[in-house]
Amino acid sequence: MANSVMPIPRTTDAPDEQRLMECVHCGLCLPTCPTYAELGVEMDSPRGRIYLMRAVVDGKLSLSESYQQHISLCLGCRACETACPSGVKFGQLLEGARAQIEQADAPRHPPLAKWLRLLAFKGILPRPLVLSLLGNALLLYQASGVRTLMNHPALARWLPARLAALDRMLPALPKRSVRARLREFTPAQGERRGRVGLLAGCVMPFFFGQVNEATVQLLSANGFDVVMPRTQRCCGALHAHAGEREDARHLARQNIEAFAEARVDWIIVNAAGCGAMLKDYHELLHHDALLSGAAKQFSERVLDVSQFFDRFPFRGPLAELRIRVAYDDPCHLVHGQRVREEPRRMLRAIPGLELLEVREADWCCGSAGIYNLLHPELSRQILERKMQHLAAVNPDVITTGNPGCMLQIGIGAKEHGLAAPVVHPIELLYWASLAAQGRPIPLKQPGVGRLHA
Ligand code: SF4
Ligand code: SF4
Repeated sequence: MANSVMPIPRTTDAPDEQRLMECVHCGLCLPTCPTYAELGVEMDSPRGRIYLMRAVVDGKLSLSESYQQHISLCLGCRACETACPSGVKFGQLLEGARAQIEQADAPRHPPLAKWLRLLAFKGILPRPLVLSLLGNALLLYQASGVRTLMNHPALARWLPARLAALDRMLPALPKRSVRARLREFTPAQGERRGRVGLLAGCVMPFFFGQVNEATVQLLSANGFDVVMPRTQRCCGALHAHAGEREDARHLARQNIEAFAEARVDWIIVNAAGCGAMLKDYHELLHHDALLSGAAKQFSERVLDVSQFFDRFPFRGPLAELRIRVAYDDPCHLVHGQRVREEPRRMLRAIPGLELLEVREADWCCGSAGIYNLLHPELSRQILERKMQHLAAVNPDVITTGNPGCMLQIGIGAKEHGLAAPVVHPIELLYWASLAAQGRPIPLKQPGVGRLHA
């Protein structure tokens, strides 16, 4: 391995020595690691990566390009955490390793990469107004017909591969009206049972506005006031995963304050990646003398929407949905939050719905934040494995609770000629509730017409 000289910063964000020592090198995590399965290289396995991190912390290895590549190739899916009998917190170690690299290596990024990171992490994600403008621009791209034109076979072959890949990732965007309908406060219907906050997310309002709408309507129908604080910000997950821990802390502080002001009993999240991040705020801020206590209290009140409806089952009538459904576990729900059965129970509560057994449902789909952009080939290989298992059960609908996974599996479904739409589990509960009231089910996606409600 090349061992070029590079100063190694000893920051509070570097992988924790004690935590690194918890790995006993048993290798039980290896069969669950998607990058090890694809590449067959020990250094691209959890055990190998921990070994490398330890060598860096011990000063035996520098932050060489090869080291950075092994760390970069990790999906951060945390399947190794679920498998590990010693309780190694691999996700924390990985973020520490990336922060260490970032703090040492930031000045060496090529100018374009530096500019893109600056734009994404400082210019777009933390700024709701910029996000909103970007969302509207994408909507215009779709509504004006430019998108259709770009996808015309005569033009499509001239598009740069990266741009074509980005376009493929875009779902059919919901109309602006879905976003406009969501207010800062939605009162409880019927007997009031409490007050909850909803994390709106960065991607969800623009790509999957109907998911936020379904969440708000169901929470309200279940007797909860719903607050979506205007001062809430991006959860900071993408920042933390990319080693930008200080920016992530800044966003965490803003969110803790926003939801404290909203005086809510629970903070509901319908995006698994954001939920895992919010539940880790206490880790992120554990050195913060002022906020570590508040961060712990905040994290304890965060629930994935499926956990919430498991604790407070939906009390309204539900119509039959006679559909065969394949559920795919988002990594940051099943491994990051250890939420496995709750979404399945929520889906099984829908009359008529048949929940299919899918092989390796808890295996990563290759989305992993922006992994599919950073490592497109490996991401594709991992997606291919997922799609073969999904295609084998030939579902009417595929469902998963994270926007990145919805986009990635949506691409896979299209390429495999699967007619099954990819929706969020909360949408299915909402459709059953709408149908019970004699209201139409959204029929945007192909295949939904086969529903019997
Ligand atoms: S987080 Fe996922 S990809 Fe990374 S080492 Fe663990 S199992 Fe492998
Ligand atoms: S991370 Fe856990 S499962 Fe994997 S080698 Fe270390 S101790 Fe064993």
